[in-house]
Amino acid sequence: AHLARIDAIDEKVHAFLHIDREGALAQARAVDAKREAGEKLGPLAGVPLALKDIFTTQDMPTTVGSKILEGWVPPYDATLTKKLKAADVVILGKTNMDEFAMGSSTENSAYGPTGNPWDLTRIPGGSGGGSSAALASFEAPLAIGTDTGGSIRQPAAVTGTVGVKPTYGGVSRYGMVAFSSSLDQGGPCARTVLDAALLHEVIGGHDPLDSTSIDAPVPPVVEAARNGSVQGMRVGVVKQFAGEGYQAGVVQRFNESVELLKSLGATVVELDCPSFDLALSAYYLIAPSECSSNLARFDAMRYGLRVGDDGTRSAEDVTALTREAGFGDEVKRRIILGTYALSSGYYDAYYGSAQKVRTLITQDFEKAFEQVDVIVSPTTPTTAFPIGERADDPMAMYLADLCTIPTNLAGNSAMSLPCGLAPEDGLPVGLQIIAPAMKDDRLYKVGAAVE
Ligand code: GLN
Repeated sequence: AHLARIDAIDEKVHAFLHIDREGALAQARAVDAKREAGEKLGPLAGVPLALKDIFTTQDMPTTVGSKILEGWVPPYDATLTKKLKAADVVILGKTNMDEFAMGSSTENSAYGPTGNPWDLTRIPGGSGGGSSAALASFEAPLAIGTDTGGSIRQPAAVTGTVGVKPTYGGVSRYGMVAFSSSLDQGGPCARTVLDAALLHEVIGGHDPLDSTSIDAPVPPVVEAARNGSVQGMRVGVVKQFAGEGYQAGVVQRFNESVELLKSLGATVVELDCPSFDLALSAYYLIAPSECSSNLARFDAMRYGLRVGDDGTRSAEDVTALTREAGFGDEVKRRIILGTYALSSGYYDAYYGSAQKVRTLITQDFEKAFEQVDVIVSPTTPTTAFPIGERADDPMAMYLADLCTIPTNLAGNSAMSLPCGLAPEDGLPVGLQIIAPAMKDDRLYKVGAAVE
């Protein structure tokens, strides 16, 4: 049924970069056979899923939305891919994304943009716009995203779906193509809080192949999602997540959510987190710095695209020609920014300062979580904007992650879930819930209560 749905509408939505029809049907039949033979089935047996094209898959191409990896079929499965297969999930295919997960609209994909199923002329968010569009268009009931600065939560917000950035280290990064390794985090996307929890439980947990993976059990997310409540909880509202640039309808729905929390028995506390104002600036030094280092591996020698290798050119020239042809503008912008920020003489002024700001943000969160159990905010300041509107204005694009980035810098967990439609444009608004590290279950407890 989901393949038929994809056939019917994906030409318009363009959520998928690759559809694995044969593989999906084979997997579904294997589940049937297991069931008939009375064998034990995995926890998500037969449930179709759309996988962001940033996770390696042995039997499908992995492009990361870039020409530099066009046609590359990885020799191994990411840990997350393996866990999905072990849970008997049916992987439908790979979803569209901003190139190397850099963007907030999926317009930076080398393979063309994805439309928001609510209005195809608008962006589905990014970088994981393909995954959220697949959910919103009922092409898949579950999807996987990755969140470096908001790429799970902002697409969830603008498509009226649920997305969770687990605690950093909560889901393995092994086989997840690196953008900014100290911020990147894979996580679940779904249409309901409980569905997200069921997927979270399957993909989470310790992985010895990822040195930053947390060696502790997955927080009890499913139990929390089944027992939604905010009775007696302290909920923080951060002063800094408001003001100029926030759309009126977004603010209205957010305020209604705060009233709802109160009516359900929560106490609301106003919080001051002054360092949050610096989060975007720190992020746009740290993320490009790590990206400039991580993307050095695309040298045209080991794998992926190779341009100009006609026997007359040096390896350096082939590398340069390949990177010129293979990377898009935003990726080049970040590599240049990052290389500059890390260069000798500038390192302390830029990268060093940004790391200090990162510590201040972490401390703001620590202080906040002495007073409250969770923090709530709008996920993103506006509803889905028209395709093309911010494409030539990187600064405007970066503002989409104003409320999501602090969480990545501190490494704690956050969820976006729908909280109604903005009256002025009828488009979905996202409510963000933020919890301390390894308290991901709180997101689900609160999310299930207000869903
Ligand atoms: N929009 C942010 C960026 O462009 C975040 C992307 C992400 O979370 N992968 O870097």
